[in-house]
Amino acid sequence: MLDLLADTVRDHPDDVALTYFDGRLTFAELDELSDGLACHLVERGVAGGDRVAVYLQNVPQFAIAVLAGWKAGAIVVPLNPMYRLHELTKILGDARPTAVISSEQGWHDVVGAVATALEIGIAVTTSELDLQTRDDQRLFAKSRRNPAEGCADLLAVARSYAGKRPPAVSSSASDIALLVYTSGTSGVPKGATNTHGNVVFNAEGTALRLDEDTPGGIFALAPLFHITGLVVQFAAALAAGRQLDLAYRFEPGVVLDALAEHEPAFMVGPSTAYMALMNHPEVSPEHFASLKMVHSGGAPLPSAVVEAFRARFGLYIRNGYGLTETTATATSVPLGKEAPVDAASGTLAVGVPTYNTVLRVVDEEGSDLAVGEVGEIVVEGPMVVPAYWNKPEETAASIRDGRLHTGDVGFMDEHGWFYVVDRKKDMINASGFKVWPREVEDVLYGHPAVREAAVVGVPDAYRGETVKAFISLAHGSTATGEELVEHCKQQLAAYKYPRSVEIIDELPKTATGKILRRQLRDTARAGEQHGRNEQ
Ligand code: ATP
Repeated sequence: MLDLLADTVRDHPDDVALTYFDGRLTFAELDELSDGLACHLVERGVAGGDRVAVYLQNVPQFAIAVLAGWKAGAIVVPLNPMYRLHELTKILGDARPTAVISSEQGWHDVVGAVATALEIGIAVTTSELDLQTRDDQRLFAKSRRNPAEGCADLLAVARSYAGKRPPAVSSSASDIALLVYTSGTSGVPKGATNTHGNVVFNAEGTALRLDEDTPGGIFALAPLFHITGLVVQFAAALAAGRQLDLAYRFEPGVVLDALAEHEPAFMVGPSTAYMALMNHPEVSPEHFASLKMVHSGGAPLPSAVVEAFRARFGLYIRNGYGLTETTATATSVPLGKEAPVDAASGTLAVGVPTYNTVLRVVDEEGSDLAVGEVGEIVVEGPMVVPAYWNKPEETAASIRDGRLHTGDVGFMDEHGWFYVVDRKKDMINASGFKVWPREVEDVLYGHPAVREAAVVGVPDAYRGETVKAFISLAHGSTATGEELVEHCKQQLAAYKYPRSVEIIDELPKTATGKILRRQLRDTARAGEQHGRNEQ
């Protein structure tokens, strides 16, 4: 990745690399600040292959920290800033970093305690400014307050090495660039070891897929600690020499203001972010006027959302599929095309495999299935990680001969488009009939009252399992559960429509915006159990 950075700095030194509200940083400044921080890390003892953990929101210091980590020869471990003691102890205990870079607040709240317990010797903090006061966002104009006790201050140390470069590190494409812990919607977090080769391949691929005739920057809807944020936003912006607009964390009203202010041409983020923006009471087509291309990835995208977004804002959301283990993208919708919708299930295609990438659909024995047959999706390509960190058994179970067994169930149509039906583990078994929650959710999203939907299986004495939907309603809607059941009954086979609907204010989500369907399922199951015990 450092070669890509060097090329961009050489070709566009004075172009804006990052914006953060009123703050701006050019590629040359980003390079210089990350050199400074790298010098500090090396001087304090960070050596090649060491881990450097970063616990920050979408702020420019995140980008400085990642580049500094790489310049010091280290593996960068991005951490979800919503993680607290339990998660951080588990992840940092596994990654064993030598250095941790965090917000000052984060250090006081939780990182400091974990770093002390794990004897992490090097700490750098930075003030993450409070979003409530827009004036405080003038990051680069402001000199800093005091760093957390015992920690160096990120911007101060970066500036104190002005003009110095860290010793050159020899790196190869097979060196690990990132250790990214999956957010755990399917259990214990595992660290995916994304190599520099993996990251460069997908960063350059994304850069090429942005329409080269369209000038303009990229707006970061996805968080930088997530693989989509790091690769499809940050690394791709570096590769393309395009401006990346950061806005602390996803807050629909703030994002709409920032879009109007920075006028990006591209936007990348999870489907739930598009739904939240579309449902904001003050949203208007003007907010999206500068955008030429918008991408969604990392979570299912219902075709009803694509159509509603197009009808209201004239923008077509391009789907893409991938996992942390595929360094974000494995499929995309080619330029000039639109993803088809499967007529039988209403599922929107996730795209076709990206350059040099092969997707297969296999049965339980690993044999290839025919067109249209549903099975597990296996991905092979230059962006598949070689292994999980410290987890030989999990690696052997999922990554064999460079092929990643994704745990996603899907099929390919006769034109080579891929469709993700659901995750293997989320299937509902109602009297022996398979129900894939996403199909039912897609139908629910077709109802105008539905803002968000999650469908789960709950125990049923007669059918074994039955279908339940959790719904949050669109702004101002007064629709009832019965109406939504009726809507599904008209479009789905009798065993698929939800037997019960629970309307709640907000569905629980991961920090990356994915609906925590399994959490809802566990709550619903616990509720059923409780109900039965009471009878
Ligand atoms: P964990 O792997 O622990 O469950 P996670 O869900 O956060 O955590 P990620 O690597 O972030 O892991 O997400 C990858 C998953 O997201 C895929 O396996 C797939 O289920 C889902 N996904 C990604 N893109 C799409 C898409 N376009 N359509 C449908 N599902 C998608």
